[in-house]
Order: sequence, then C-alpha cells, then structure tokens
Amino acid sequence: MDKIEHIGIAVKSLEKSNALFAALFGKAHYKIEEVENEGVKTSFFDVGPNKIELLEATNPESPIAKFIEKKGEGIHHIAFAVKDIEEEIARLKGEGFIVLNSAPKLGADNKLVAFLHPKSTNGVLIELCQERT
Ligand code: ZN
Repeated sequence: MDKIEHIGIAVKSLEKSNALFAALFGKAHYKIEEVENEGVKTSFFDVGPNKIELLEATNPESPIAKFIEKKGEGIHHIAFAVKDIEEEIARLKGEGFIVLNSAPKLGADNKLVAFLHPKSTNGVLIELCQERT
C-alpha cells in the first residue's frame, strides 16, 4: 500500500462545505463528480500530496445518507493508493480482512476502488484505489 491518496468526508451540503473547505485551504475544489452507482456527489481538493474528497448523498438510500443519519457529518473513509488493486485485494483477503467488493469497481476521480469492512479494520472504512491507465 502506498501513500494516503485522499480522506473522504461526509457532508450534508456540498455547496456549503465547498465554501467552508475553500476558506480552510485557501483554494477552491478542483472538480465535482457524481458517482451514480454509489448515490454520491463528490468534490475534490488538492492539499499537498494528498486530497480531500467531500461526499454528499444524492438519494436517501445512499451509504453517505445512512452514515450521516447514524454518525453525523465527518470523516467517512481513508483511501490508500495501490499499484495493483487485484493483487492487494487478494493479499488483504489472505490476511483475514473483509473486502466489501469481490472485484474493483469504478470510483470517482478515474480510479478503480474497493473497500474494506470497518469491522475488520478497527472501525475505519478503508478504500483502496488504483489510478486507471
Ligand atoms: Zn474516496
């Protein structure tokens, strides 16, 4: 596993939070992207070598809507860059981690992604992401 690629933060309003985080970082988000199959709209900020991803639910069934209902706004996941996501999934399964996706799926920001169940990672939702070439 390589560096932290981004940290995902669940927010109620992307519009309000884009303004808030722009004020915090001193620069605006560089893109907004909807991931339809996940029921989320995301925005990305470049912060040094890492990124911050804001996530807003686009429907009440979205995992982000459910997360906010249970825990409120806040850190939702930590994403790590990997070179070969298939290999990393196999390795982590072998170590006993619960991988939520049997195969990598298409995520935001032109990435292949997979998630580890927080139950197997001390309560932290971990995302693996590989740059698509
Ligand atoms: Zn993410």
